[in-house]
Amino acid sequence: MQIVIFKFKTKQSIIKGQNTMLDSVVKCACGAVNVIVTSNNPKKKTNDTYVMAKETFEKHFDSLELSDFKYDNCNHCINHWGIDINHDEPTNEDGELNIVEVDESTIDEINSRL
Ligand SMILES: [Zn+2]
Repeated sequence: MQIVIFKFKTKQSIIKGQNTMLDSVVKCACGAVNVIVTSNNPKKKTNDTYVMAKETFEKHFDSLELSDFKYDNCNHCINHWGIDINHDEPTNEDGELNIVEVDESTIDEINSRL
């Protein structure tokens, strides 16, 4: 049995017999939010992170509590990763991120892990 230290009170979900749960929610200086969950792959030692724009977070996950800790350069602003990034065209001509609507199955998948 894996022991996990809870930083936040949240519901726990069980996927394929393996516990996964919210670890923390960390905001970046760019405004993006990183939702960090423990992996449901028992062989994986690191957490999974869902990165998204502030607007996406507020729309779909605003009940989650933000950590006091902050990132300075997350994967959303540096590498243009995220559940809401248009991967065909991550940035526009001004270098701003092209944020798209997240499809419902992605939201459901994340919710099932919180
Ligand atoms: Zn960032």
